[in-house]
Amino acid sequence: MPESSSKKSFLIVSLLIILISSIFFTLNFSSQVKLANQSFQSELEINSLNSLYKTHYELVLEKRKFQSLLSPESRSNYIRLKSELEVELDSLRTGIVQFPHLEENYTNLFGALESRLEQLDRHLAFFDQFTVAVAQEKIKDETVEIQSRSAVLELAYQQLLNDLLAERDEFTRDYFAKARFNYIGFIVLFVISLVLLMANYFLGQKQQKLGLEKQKERIQFELAQKDTQDFQTTFENAAIGMGLVNDTGRWIRVNASLCRMLGYTPEELMNLTFQEITHPDDLFGDLEQAKKLRNREIDSYTIEKRYFTKSGEIVWINLTRTAVWEENGQFRYFIAQIENISTRKKYLAQLQEQKDRFSYVIEGTRAGTWEWNVQTGETVFNEIWAQIIGYTLEEIGPISIETWVKFAHPEDLEVSNRKLQACFDRKADYFECECRMRHKDGHWVWVLDRGKVMTWTADGKPEKMYGTHTDISQFKEFENNLNEKSAFTQAVLDTIDVGIVVANSSGELELSNKAALDFHGLSRLNVPQEEWPNYYQLFLPDQSRLLTKDEIPLIKAWKGETFQDVEFCIRHTSGDIRYISCSGSPITDLTGSNLGAVVAMNDVTSLRKIQQKLKESERRFRGIFNSTFQFIGFLETDGTLVEANQTAIDFAGLTPDQVVGKKFWDCFWWQISEEIQERLKEAIAKAANGEFVQYEVAVWDKDKNAVTILFNLKPIFDEEGKVIAIIPEGRLIQDIVDARTALENKNHELERFASVASHDLKEPLRMVINFLQLLEKRYKGSLDEKADQYIHFAVDASQRMSRLVNDLLEYSRIGTKQTEITEIDLNLLLQNQKSYFASLLQECEGTITYGQMPRILAKDVPLQTLFRNLIGNAIKYRKPDVPLQIKITSKELPEHWEIAIEDNGIGFDPAQADRIFDIFTRLHTTQQYSGTGLGLAICKKIVEQHQGKIWADSVPGVGSTFHFTVKKA
Ligand code: ADP
Repeated sequence: MPESSSKKSFLIVSLLIILISSIFFTLNFSSQVKLANQSFQSELEINSLNSLYKTHYELVLEKRKFQSLLSPESRSNYIRLKSELEVELDSLRTGIVQFPHLEENYTNLFGALESRLEQLDRHLAFFDQFTVAVAQEKIKDETVEIQSRSAVLELAYQQLLNDLLAERDEFTRDYFAKARFNYIGFIVLFVISLVLLMANYFLGQKQQKLGLEKQKERIQFELAQKDTQDFQTTFENAAIGMGLVNDTGRWIRVNASLCRMLGYTPEELMNLTFQEITHPDDLFGDLEQAKKLRNREIDSYTIEKRYFTKSGEIVWINLTRTAVWEENGQFRYFIAQIENISTRKKYLAQLQEQKDRFSYVIEGTRAGTWEWNVQTGETVFNEIWAQIIGYTLEEIGPISIETWVKFAHPEDLEVSNRKLQACFDRKADYFECECRMRHKDGHWVWVLDRGKVMTWTADGKPEKMYGTHTDISQFKEFENNLNEKSAFTQAVLDTIDVGIVVANSSGELELSNKAALDFHGLSRLNVPQEEWPNYYQLFLPDQSRLLTKDEIPLIKAWKGETFQDVEFCIRHTSGDIRYISCSGSPITDLTGSNLGAVVAMNDVTSLRKIQQKLKESERRFRGIFNSTFQFIGFLETDGTLVEANQTAIDFAGLTPDQVVGKKFWDCFWWQISEEIQERLKEAIAKAANGEFVQYEVAVWDKDKNAVTILFNLKPIFDEEGKVIAIIPEGRLIQDIVDARTALENKNHELERFASVASHDLKEPLRMVINFLQLLEKRYKGSLDEKADQYIHFAVDASQRMSRLVNDLLEYSRIGTKQTEITEIDLNLLLQNQKSYFASLLQECEGTITYGQMPRILAKDVPLQTLFRNLIGNAIKYRKPDVPLQIKITSKELPEHWEIAIEDNGIGFDPAQADRIFDIFTRLHTTQQYSGTGLGLAICKKIVEQHQGKIWADSVPGVGSTFHFTVKKA
């Protein structure tokens, strides 16, 4: 019989037993309940009976009370108790159904009670029917009957009570008997069930064990069957490389993964040993281990090594080698499990590289690093941390957080702690603090300390914190220098009257100098960008509206615009308007990224006001310029006509555009002849060289009539003396020219007349002189004294007249002779003059001195006359008691030679200096100094013929200097 069916029947029997026991048990239990119920009912009956008896008793008492006291209250109590008694009686009657065998007892009790109640009622009725005494007497008469009825009732009551009690006791007894049975039955049933269940469990256990054993045996059997086949499949299909290697290292079996890994076919690989494809550097270690495995010192080993693939590439592999032994203990082969770990190796190498890079970065940045377990106080610093303050780690060890506190500047600790607390409270992500650390040498090193809480405890406290220390002493020094420099820069900027405003890369106002503040009348300029338009009160140049934010020069420059001389207005806080011309540009670094912007502002208010005035004066000037009678224009230095006034334009009947912009000589007026145009060109060239040029010239009027104008070109110079423009000016002088020509003609006539007259006078005058001289010679002394005197006067006057006639003749003849201009050596000329005046000079101990004199172009004879007259006057007007000194000098001018003849004579009144060159003008009388008053007039005429000028200056009593110029060419 199979195990499972025996187990099943066992279970069924067990269940049957439990079922039967349960039925007995249940039946017994229900009869127990029934008994309990009956017992309870009989108890209720007893209670009802007692209550009935008690109520009856109280009723009797109340009847007696009424009987003796006649209290109505007792009577009503009696009636109440009687009705209660009736209720109780009804309740007792129901018990008859449950206790039928006691029916007789019940009937007896009820009969006795009713007879008693009837007796009581009757007695009470006596009191209603009779007097109290009669009633009491009647009652007393029935004493025997009363006692007899009470005894009957007592007996019936007692009997029923006893029977009920006996009944109850019986039920109770039965109940406990059943209960005991149930109790014992329950225990028995429970034990049986327990035993059966346990028996069932152990039976099951045993069967399971037996089943498992068998299953195992079967699986083992099946496994054994499949082993070889599975190994084959596993070997072939394994994802990792697998191979069997014999004692010499030759591959005797390889799987597909290994072949794929190494790039060989199985045949090729099995012709090789593992030694041949192992990297030489890894071979020794592998062989050592293989040897131990072979000697059974170890069961297996795992190493990482390199194989060469067929194509010669290196593959990193993880090799696990185990050995397989024959049953007799002989070595069979190695099993090699080969995992390609090249990728892992690569990642590891990359990881290492990253680590290295990280440490190089730390090394390179010279950053000290620190790690701090905030909870334990455990602290780690790197070597650079210590180096920053001049120590080695060893010197400052043992390291703890106290090490930091020890070296940190006490003033910085407070800030540092506050920032740390912010990190701990998670109010700040990073800790960053600049603090000072005491260097081994005693000085303070500025350090930038940065860190972050990286891990937190489970209850949210900071745990591990990592950070760096960077030496920023140089930066701090630089920063100090920078602060000094920016203070210096600010001071410099404040001294200039150009307003400077600088924005930083965020567009905030970074810097503004005093001038910029003064333009606005503000004490500070830094308000948010949005408020700039209203705050700075910048207007368009015509003040029509405020500049918008984007029109504000600093914002334009900040946005990358470069501009120059852009104008706008500022309303000063006083209400004044300031005109500003500004230039701006963005500021970029070497890479071109935006660092901000700068705008420089010039207050051009006064300039604008001047310009306005200038416009007004320009208007006025234009009025004058165009309405004057003169011809006025404006030339560039190359002769281009920039402007011509209305008078000049109208004169030629032109419009401005017909002349403006043209070369002046090509304009209508000058087209009268090529010669005149050429001359104008030359004149403009001279004026462009700074010379004032003036000449008379004929130009065309609108009818192409030749009209003479006095024309001049006036150069205009800049501050450095450079000619920047030329003002041409002309005025009509045709009338003057006509008058002058007429005058000249008249003069010529006069001169001719004077010449003829003097020439014609000369002959009779010589006769008069000759005869007078003869008269004097022959008759002097033979006539009276008066006659001698008269003859002398006549001779003297005639001689003077002769001189006058000669001088007049000379004066009138000047220029009439066509004398050639030749080159004259003034040295020679003066030498001759000296000889000429030799005797006179000797007389007065006079000297003539001169330096190296030039050679000049002049007419020979007139020039000699010129010198003779001037030297002659110097001798004539000498001081009588002082040796005469005549000094002659020359000076080269651009176009003339200037000659000066200086004497130490009597001099003359300088106020008369111009007059003395007029004919017949004398400052001294003939009595003092002989003369005709024509000498200097002759000199003037000669000089003018040489296109020169003559003038004189003098200090009376000291001497005189006569200057004249002679044209060079
Ligand atoms: P005159 O024949 O009177 O010299 P000039 O024409 O030569 O006529 O001179 C005019 C006047 O100028 C002279 O009368 C004299 O008063 C004054 N004069 C000319 N030369 C000199 C001189 N060298 N020193 C002082 N006075 C002079």
